[in-house]
Amino acid sequence: MRCEIVAVGTELLLGQIVDTNSAWMGEQLALAGIDCTHQQTVGDNLDRIVGALELALGRADAVIICGGLGPTQDDITRNAIARVMGVPLVQDDDVADRILERFASRGRRMPANNLLQAQVPRGATAIADPQPGTAPGLICPLGEGGKVIYAVPGVPYEMQEIVSRAVLPDLQRRAGKLAIIRSRTLRTWGDSESGLAERLAEHMAELDGGGPAAPTLAFLASGIEGLKVRITVKADDEDSARALLDEEERIVRGVLGDIVFGVDDEAMEHAVAKVLVERGLTLAVAESLTGGLVASRLVNVAGASNWFRGGIVSYASDVKHDLLGVPAGPVVSSEAAAAMASGVRRRLGADVGLGVTGVAGPDEQDGQPPGTVFMAVAMGDDEPIAVRVTLPGDRDRVRQFACISLLDLLRRTLAAPSAQLMS
Ligand code: ATP
Ligand code: MG
Repeated sequence: MRCEIVAVGTELLLGQIVDTNSAWMGEQLALAGIDCTHQQTVGDNLDRIVGALELALGRADAVIICGGLGPTQDDITRNAIARVMGVPLVQDDDVADRILERFASRGRRMPANNLLQAQVPRGATAIADPQPGTAPGLICPLGEGGKVIYAVPGVPYEMQEIVSRAVLPDLQRRAGKLAIIRSRTLRTWGDSESGLAERLAEHMAELDGGGPAAPTLAFLASGIEGLKVRITVKADDEDSARALLDEEERIVRGVLGDIVFGVDDEAMEHAVAKVLVERGLTLAVAESLTGGLVASRLVNVAGASNWFRGGIVSYASDVKHDLLGVPAGPVVSSEAAAAMASGVRRRLGADVGLGVTGVAGPDEQDGQPPGTVFMAVAMGDDEPIAVRVTLPGDRDRVRQFACISLLDLLRRTLAAPSAQLMS
């Protein structure tokens, strides 16, 4: 099953908005195991939209067209689809009723234009919009060859809701896949995409040879959230899907080891929180470079007050010296990070202290290039563990990467066998 994407909107061509919809849909199609070989962007022009649809249908079994479904003059996607299908637009009474109800319930007069949204190409089925009474999505079958056009609104959250709820399941049904498709995402930190692919190459070759029912793996780079490995399985029912996912997760974890820090929505701060709660430990953070970002991520976790004591943003050097006991000398060094970790641990009465200092850029500091970051974990009776890393990117990325790297260092330190003896 091949599916193409057509994004409609002159504002996309002019660069006034960025086409995040196509990116999102591309990702979802890949995860659902549906090939997407082309994406097009086209302005609000009937002939050119028709041309884009015909081009796409010439190469693919399905097309998702996004945008231009609203009630205004330049919203002509439904007209273009009707032209391609060779049918007239007709009113869908259910959709019309919902639109009328929406205006009635607010006691407002409805501009006649709004009923345009109830016009659908004859033979198409409306997909109810998450915001009742606005433009619905459309499933438009094209007769013989079994090809299909899906039309979805341009507003990102409406598009995402309709694609997840209606379009992907319909595509998968048409692709003749097994009854259900389920995915699980393993989140990793600490290796590159090519590194992950190399580690998993042998296993993926086995899966490739395993026929259409074998699980599939996809890699997704998610910036400061790390790299995700998405496992997708096909099965007849929920129980067998779960069993297949469990088994595949076990194998992938076996290969990747402790670089896997979480599953699905579990971010690094959740992984850290879990270990701290399990071990009954409290945490305090001293931040220079990250200026509070680490603390801010930690309090994303519900119930953080049970284990998070607080943080000190020790930005000026004398705050590091006076408040945290960082010894005189350069404040971008592993000694400084270690002293910050010990200092904040002592000051805030926590079991574990973290320290992070470094050069966010653009200029160098104390002879260290931008991206140089020192981070430390202090716990138990031993000397703090201090690590130097060199992080890529501009000021913002360096700070974001420093944040997750520090949390990952904590996670690994807590998981290490020697850490079991401390605290
Ligand atoms: P409406 O009923 O709001 O008119 P519509 O289906 O006609 O919806 P458009 O008018 O094309 O959609 O787009 C509505 C808004 O959605 C745009 O102003 C833009 O903010 C956003 N949008 C549209 N297309 C995209 C896209 N490809 N990527 C990201 N955002 C988009
Ligand atoms: Mg519009």
